[in-house]
Amino acid sequence: MTANLYHPASGFPWPQGRGFGAAFTFDVDAEAGALAFDSTFHRRMSLMSHQQYGPAVAVPKLLGMLEHHEVKATFFVPGFTADLHPDLVRRIRDHGHEIGHHGWLHEQTTALTDAQEEEMIDRGLESLGRLGITPVGYRAPWWEYNYRTTDMLLSRGFEYDSSLLDDDVPYRFTSDASATGSLVEIPVDWALDDWEQFAFYPGWTGSGVIESPRKALQMWSEEASVAAHAGNCFVLTNHPFISGRPSRLNALSALIEHVKGLDGAWITTLQDIARHTASVIEDIKVHDRVADPGPQPGQDDQGHPLPSTDDHLFDN
Ligand SMILES: [Zn+2]
Repeated sequence: MTANLYHPASGFPWPQGRGFGAAFTFDVDAEAGALAFDSTFHRRMSLMSHQQYGPAVAVPKLLGMLEHHEVKATFFVPGFTADLHPDLVRRIRDHGHEIGHHGWLHEQTTALTDAQEEEMIDRGLESLGRLGITPVGYRAPWWEYNYRTTDMLLSRGFEYDSSLLDDDVPYRFTSDASATGSLVEIPVDWALDDWEQFAFYPGWTGSGVIESPRKALQMWSEEASVAAHAGNCFVLTNHPFISGRPSRLNALSALIEHVKGLDGAWITTLQDIARHTASVIEDIKVHDRVADPGPQPGQDDQGHPLPSTDDHLFDN
């Protein structure tokens, strides 16, 4: 790392002897991730096979790799994945990893009504519950957490979320209603997600550019090094169907080796990080809602962008 980088210390109170937190997280989107985008994809055998590479081939390899490094990870599992691949989800749990909630069919939560979002959360809980799993952590599909979600999670006993993008370290928060209780947020970042580096499927996602695992390893190693220096929390998000491919698995293993070698690393599950945060942080944040500025030039009367000649493609 360059010596003159500016990275102030976070001051976050990590446990005795630990200088920063690091979590390797895996979103087992599998078939659900594609079907939530277009449910007719269930007819596309090749696309389904691309998604099934995750549960069938990638997760077993990842479990072996994590065991080799003696690292416990957090796996976010949509209910649909748990229903289709119950033995695999049990196997992840039996390896000592944490299982978190990730919707039922990886829903596009911004399109849901309140009642539909509640139903999604309950359906996901039921699917995991049938495997004897009660998750304490939630990660919104596509990281699309709604202002209303906090109360839904609190009333169901969740302890933390990992979908927001507004800090370098975990914090406690609650809703703007007169809520009882609080959650811990363990923030994420699109730069620390394998989707942006590697995901591509014609007619569904990606631009066609597939980066070199070496480039991703370099990016993520640099993020981890700065997190170590600043006392931040390094949270990497991987998808087994993407990062379980051979050269990427290799790069991920090298990254874990790098993080383990950084001074003061506390590599653990998000649940451990959340419980530590709840025990040492007193402040409880309330996210301010952003005022509606009203429709602007170039937007329709609802405030949505008018059709333009530019292609704005968000591939996640
Ligand atoms: Zn996902």
